[in-house]
Amino acid sequence: HQYESAYLNHKSVTVNYGGHNGAEAQKFLVKNALDQRVNEIDPNTCEPGEEDAFFVADVGEVYRQHLRWKMNLKRVKPHYAVKCNSDPEVLRLLAALGTGFDCASKAEIEQVLKLGVHPSRIIYAHPCKTKSYVRYAAQHGVKQMTFDNADELYKIQALYPQAELFLRILTDDSSSLCRLSQKFGASLDCSKELLELAKTLDLNVVGVSFHVGSGASDPESFTKAVKDSRHVFDQAADIGYDLKTLDVGGGFTGDTFEEMAQALSEALDEYFPPSVRIIGEPGRYYVASAFTLACNVIARREVQDSATNTSSYMLYLNDGAYGNFSSIIFDHQHPSAQILRKQGGNNNNRATEYSIWGPTCDGIDRISEFCVLRGLLDVGDWLYFEEMGAYTRCSATRFNGFSDDHQVVYVSSEQGASALLGY
Ligand code: PLP
Repeated sequence: HQYESAYLNHKSVTVNYGGHNGAEAQKFLVKNALDQRVNEIDPNTCEPGEEDAFFVADVGEVYRQHLRWKMNLKRVKPHYAVKCNSDPEVLRLLAALGTGFDCASKAEIEQVLKLGVHPSRIIYAHPCKTKSYVRYAAQHGVKQMTFDNADELYKIQALYPQAELFLRILTDDSSSLCRLSQKFGASLDCSKELLELAKTLDLNVVGVSFHVGSGASDPESFTKAVKDSRHVFDQAADIGYDLKTLDVGGGFTGDTFEEMAQALSEALDEYFPPSVRIIGEPGRYYVASAFTLACNVIARREVQDSATNTSSYMLYLNDGAYGNFSSIIFDHQHPSAQILRKQGGNNNNRATEYSIWGPTCDGIDRISEFCVLRGLLDVGDWLYFEEMGAYTRCSATRFNGFSDDHQVVYVSSEQGASALLGY
């Protein structure tokens, strides 16, 4: 097996593997990149930070998710939700694949524009925007944006009356992991009033948007939201608007994608003729499974149970709930540890009980309350966690002075992705 490694800059390494392609190559490639990186580090002599947690990202997995999207949701043009993971290589790949982008702030818009993406491929999908950011969007021609209340309409009229507006409606998000409807979305009781106000203000409403909640699990929530959108399209027509676009938001996960896509496609075909343009704002779906996180065991504590005369262990890692495991708190995740490297000379392979903790001084900083791993892990060993691409690094903090900016080793298990990225 031949690897080609090139340091893109001091923080990123690209490892390219020739000969393997496709989903079955992902595990192999990622594991090899993890091993290779870990073997570069000598915990006894390394500089502070060299043994920091790091990611391996498989851009091939992002590419495959895109193909899967196109196969199952032909009508829906994805606008990747940058907030989910703004990794520069992921954005570069998606830009090359021709997706659009959902941005929530000036910084996200700027990052996408810098890739050379045309402003018409961006939707500023935030119903409650910062005034200076709206001025920035206006200066850079990012016209598409959402609203769900009257005050936002007055703001937009003052700052960017040419904007192309999407009325974000409320959805039933009760089946989702992260609920959004308690904060955003106009109910159908006030949609007509808002459209009338927009008309009075001479604003350009072009579509309807919704979000069924992040990590949605009930396909029925898409069916209902599409039906409600049809109602708002009809209300808008009565007021004199000819709406052109429906934005079906995000909420998709890799596990239930086909089921959700089928329900959504059926509803779209039932309620919207082919002349209506459909866009979506998937985040988690594209990146969750593409990122694996490796962490170093920085400390260990033995906990003896005198009643049973057995020991369990508390492991302290160099990343935690204030870092890339912020997904435990903000995204209700339960990351699962696997052993990456157990130091030599330790042949114990017994099932051993652990709790796993982050590095900060706060007791809430816990990764796993209880897990069983084979063998006795020690300081300097490495663990890895799969499915760490969504809502992880983006919400990491520097609490206690630990880094929030970890190295990413990129691999590609799809030649299509490698070609687009020039790997
Ligand atoms: N669009 C909007 C407006 C959002 O708020 C979010 C997530 O919070 C997304 C898209 C992405 O959602 P997901 O990652 O569930 O696809």
